[in-house]
Amino acid sequence: MIQLKSSIFEMFTIHPSTRNAVQHTIARWYQKRRRDLPWRQTLDPYAVWVSEVMLQQTQVKTVVPYFQRFMEAFADVKQLAHADEQRVLKLWEGLGYYSRARNLHRAARLVVERFNAQVPDDWHTFRQLPGVGDYIGAAVLSIAFSKPYAVVDGNVKRVLARLFMLETEVNVAKGHAVFQPVADQLLERSHPGRHNQAVMELGAMVCTPRQPLCAQCPLQRHCKALKAGQVHNYPRRTARKAVGRQRWAAAVVFKNGRLLLTQRPGAGLLAGMWEFPGGQVQEGQDPAQACSDAIKASVGLKAPVKAHIVTVNHTYTHFKLQLDLYLCPYQSGRVRLNGPAAFKWIAFEKLSRLPLHRAVHKALPAVEQVLAG
Ligand code: SF4
Repeated sequence: MIQLKSSIFEMFTIHPSTRNAVQHTIARWYQKRRRDLPWRQTLDPYAVWVSEVMLQQTQVKTVVPYFQRFMEAFADVKQLAHADEQRVLKLWEGLGYYSRARNLHRAARLVVERFNAQVPDDWHTFRQLPGVGDYIGAAVLSIAFSKPYAVVDGNVKRVLARLFMLETEVNVAKGHAVFQPVADQLLERSHPGRHNQAVMELGAMVCTPRQPLCAQCPLQRHCKALKAGQVHNYPRRTARKAVGRQRWAAAVVFKNGRLLLTQRPGAGLLAGMWEFPGGQVQEGQDPAQACSDAIKASVGLKAPVKAHIVTVNHTYTHFKLQLDLYLCPYQSGRVRLNGPAAFKWIAFEKLSRLPLHRAVHKALPAVEQVLAG
């Protein structure tokens, strides 16, 4: 095995005998130990695609019920293409990263319009669809079409980093340029789908981030970090920036038994999701005042703050949110939107029909109690 390092990129070559042994060992392990997951019962490219989009940044156990509900609702790419976007978002509600759902939906429409509802099986065409990056491209083409593309996700990087003691940090952008060629070399080209899933499965089940189960690992014999007693030092990472914090204030405005909900714009944070109207609380600002100002600014209504309902905290991908919710009976005015994409006056019992983001969900029991009182 030769290891060369340049000042910019670490380069690594896997000896063919090591490559063959690792391929063989991991394939046998996967055939015996793989989890029985719903998307592994099919090679339908659409189902594989949906599962891989859902699995990005999300744990398998979370994805299983979402995948089943989604496939029941939209059994093929045509059904997804013809679906209303709000229904798609509703089925994605709680899974996070909503742009994934919106991109998948747009891509399904393009597949129907341009490719006669056949998921493209070549890299260039498939990779151009919305939301299809290197990971989704390699995963779908290798699993569904047996094309020789190696996947690189967090699990794969961790396994490779430990197996070959790679020094490149896994959480920096340039890391991909190092890990991809190593994954390409290791790929079992005659069974790329099985191989990719095997490496990811090993990363998820055995070579886990905190306490890898090295004693049960089929790759012990080949693992450089284990031999060197350095498993705890790999993968290398750079310190992450602290997650940002935001404070929002929002209003439960009610009129004639119905509540005002607004939809977030079609791009950006939590795009397309529904919420109570409100806005960000600036440093040093009173949240009740921020709420009152936000109602005027974003929906143009007079609805003075009457009482504080609840404070909820939720951690989204890029920030921690503290949301203060206030009861604000409608007084006067017509809704004039400035910021939100749409609005609805809706009965509390019907709120569950809308795709709501998590902080709103968390606040609903308190809202129900206040409205009942
Ligand atoms: Fe990961 Fe341990 Fe297996 Fe090495 S021996 S690949 S560190 S689980």
